[in-house]
Amino acid sequence: MSLRTFLRPRKRFGQNFLRDPLVIEKIIKAVRPQSEDRVVEIGPGLGALTHSLVDHLNKLDVVEIDRDLAHELQTIFQDRKELTIHVQDALTFKLSTLNTRDNNPQKIRVIGNLPYNISTPLIFHLLEEAHLIQDMYFMLQKEVVERLSAKPQCKDYGRLTVMVQYFCEVTPLFMVEPTAFYPIPKVHSQLVALIPHQKLPSPALDLSILQAITKTAFSQRRKTLSNALKPYLTARDFTALDLNPSLRPEALSVADFVQISNYIVTHPKQLT
Ligand code: SAM
Repeated sequence: MSLRTFLRPRKRFGQNFLRDPLVIEKIIKAVRPQSEDRVVEIGPGLGALTHSLVDHLNKLDVVEIDRDLAHELQTIFQDRKELTIHVQDALTFKLSTLNTRDNNPQKIRVIGNLPYNISTPLIFHLLEEAHLIQDMYFMLQKEVVERLSAKPQCKDYGRLTVMVQYFCEVTPLFMVEPTAFYPIPKVHSQLVALIPHQKLPSPALDLSILQAITKTAFSQRRKTLSNALKPYLTARDFTALDLNPSLRPEALSVADFVQISNYIVTHPKQLT
């Protein structure tokens, strides 16, 4: 099925298909797939990227939720034994199942022109298996890339920034015009590289606490830290942490959030 005949892209699956060969070439140049790489493509659609990827690789796994598209892909790539299609929701797909299947501990490269409606939960889901990932290259809405790569004190800096930068180095790459896709989306896109740190720069003692405090802090970002983090920290705790309680959450670095989180773990509140 070509783009022309596949006339009803499904909005609920965020289907905006890449149709500009120059953009596809630029993505492949950025990713530089090597034949031995373990690659997983999320949301292959009608195979815009898959075609180029499979040409470079001995093995490629793709995860597509749309059964009709997966069926088309099956037909298009029937002679390409390198390709394995997983008809599944990427939000529930576990990279670890690939290692179990192949008995192969090699790190995985993840690539995708992601459905924009699920890009944030999908990145959070993949980060649960960050230790299995070599790198990730995603086409995302430009604003999401700005949030991923934001620095403290910027308006885009928030929970997504802190949690992704905790695990990964974030490198924004080139921008892509809406006309590179069919149907043409209302937003501009950008390729981004997320490379999990080999060694976490500031490890959290309990990731769930780090997640909880960043969520609480940024759900009330106009509040001062002392107000936003009241359930966790007293005035005395701020002094012990050497942190100004009248700052706003966006002033804190990733390392600051980890420091707070680790303090909470090591100073459990006394029950009164
Ligand atoms: N890679 C293709 C391209 O560049 O032309 C398609 C990109 S399109 C933006 C997103 C693709 O992700 C669609 O094929 C869509 O069906 C698929 N998709 C959407 N939600 C998904 C999910 N939860 N799990 C796996 N695939 C999903």
